[in-house]
Amino acid sequence: MSTQTATAQTFLNYVNGQWTASLTGVVEASINPADKHNPVGYVQKSSVEDLDQAVQAAKNASKPWRKLSGAARGDYLFKVANLIEERLEEIAETMTKEMGKTLPEAKGETARGVAILRYYAGEGMRKVGDVIPSTDSSAMMLTTRVPLGVVGVIAPWNFPVAIPIWKMAPALIYGNTVVFKPAQEAAVTAAKVIECFEQAGIPAGVVNMVTGQGAVIGQAIAEHPDIQGITFTGSNAVGKQVGQTALARGAKYQLEMGGKNPVIIAADADLDLAVEGTISGGLRSTGQKCTATSRVIVHADVYDEFKEKLLTKVREIKVGDGLEADTWMGPCASEKQYQTVLSYIEQGKAEGATLLWGGLGPSDQEANGFYVQPTIFDDVKNEMVIAQEEIFGPVLALIKVHSLEEALELANDVAFGLSASIYTSQISSMLSFIEDMEAGLVRINAETAGVELQAPFGGMKQSSSHSREQGQAAIEFFTSIKTVFIKG
Ligand code: NAP
Repeated sequence: MSTQTATAQTFLNYVNGQWTASLTGVVEASINPADKHNPVGYVQKSSVEDLDQAVQAAKNASKPWRKLSGAARGDYLFKVANLIEERLEEIAETMTKEMGKTLPEAKGETARGVAILRYYAGEGMRKVGDVIPSTDSSAMMLTTRVPLGVVGVIAPWNFPVAIPIWKMAPALIYGNTVVFKPAQEAAVTAAKVIECFEQAGIPAGVVNMVTGQGAVIGQAIAEHPDIQGITFTGSNAVGKQVGQTALARGAKYQLEMGGKNPVIIAADADLDLAVEGTISGGLRSTGQKCTATSRVIVHADVYDEFKEKLLTKVREIKVGDGLEADTWMGPCASEKQYQTVLSYIEQGKAEGATLLWGGLGPSDQEANGFYVQPTIFDDVKNEMVIAQEEIFGPVLALIKVHSLEEALELANDVAFGLSASIYTSQISSMLSFIEDMEAGLVRINAETAGVELQAPFGGMKQSSSHSREQGQAAIEFFTSIKTVFIKG
């Protein structure tokens, strides 16, 4: 819910079933990266005391929510899904205005949020345990699953609908209550999603949202003694801190973090398909996806041909406001992100990589938004910073190799291991890639990306704390196993 001001709406926290202003009385503008002088809305800059109230509400709501049947909890999720679907256009438009992705991408993401809710609504009717044979013939052994209690959800701005939903929906269906802290840069979109939970009649305290700075509200979630589980998606630096804090007090935690995702283009690849996948994987969402392609490792035999085909397509990309129908790629989501991307582009040039295309376009500096052109570096060495660190922007690094073995070695030679692709027509190359690629998501003749919502999602190495989100895998994080022994 919101209050209207002369310029833009002010959005409140949602605590114990009420839309509530922060005790601080302070609000912050959420900026439109395509129109930086017009805020999309104002959101609460909350304090730890605001969070305490939300946690208390979630704690109070925990038992009655846990005591409902899974089917009854599922009914609420079905209602939320229907309400988001009814407001899909509005929510997607808000997302585009708030973080810059194009409207079709924002609609696709919102529709995915709806599908995730429906998937987990159905989970309320599925099995939650096993019967295990006992050596005592007059006894029965079985497992059942119990919720953690209060779950803290800390989400990034890049998928402001799908990521909070893929955390909140399993948390709720398995009987947990939720305190949600969206990224401050996407908090208006988050508020609209939470409005749908309210409209669905979810009981007071079951879902709470507190907006504010990560270092204050996010940190307080990690530290709070009444939060039993923390599910975090965001950068590596913050994730490690959240994990250490949670571990120190014995809370369960789940971290999904950054990536430096490679695509390997083998000598026998379908080059048109590979170009299409590299562009879509690397530049959709302005490269601001944890699974975005960032290193393009190409066999020397097809390097020049691939590069020419890639350049031809990239030159055609129209950058602009994501609300405009002919825009293919929107702006960077924030000034901070824009400055980060520009500094990596400068670093790439300084390291000796060749800037083939992109950087700032002729009119970007005068533009009213945070625009960077799709950018391609040639002659990249895997040890360069632009090939090792997550840029989180529309920047592709081309790396030449002479064999599949060399390609795999370089592909694995980074700290991250989230998503990786290969384009090849050889079964043996596919099998080597599946076997040797150090990534949680390995994809053959398909772009680096996430996976369908019913399949496990997560990374290896420094991309993840190694638990998995999505699908039935989510039950592992959001519940504890209770082993039951019944003596007849
Ligand atoms: P971020 O800066 O780490 O922020 C993520 C969340 O943590 C935000 O809600 C942020 O709040 C909060 N936060 C910031 N400082 C905190 C602290 N000290 N303690 C607790 N929470 C804190 O990441 P981002 O810039 O939003 O997102 C981009 C990153 O997310 C990239 O690295 C990307 O790869 C990663 N990501 C990973 C996945 C995946 O599934 N693996 C998916 C999407 C994105 P504020 O923003 O309000 O400060």
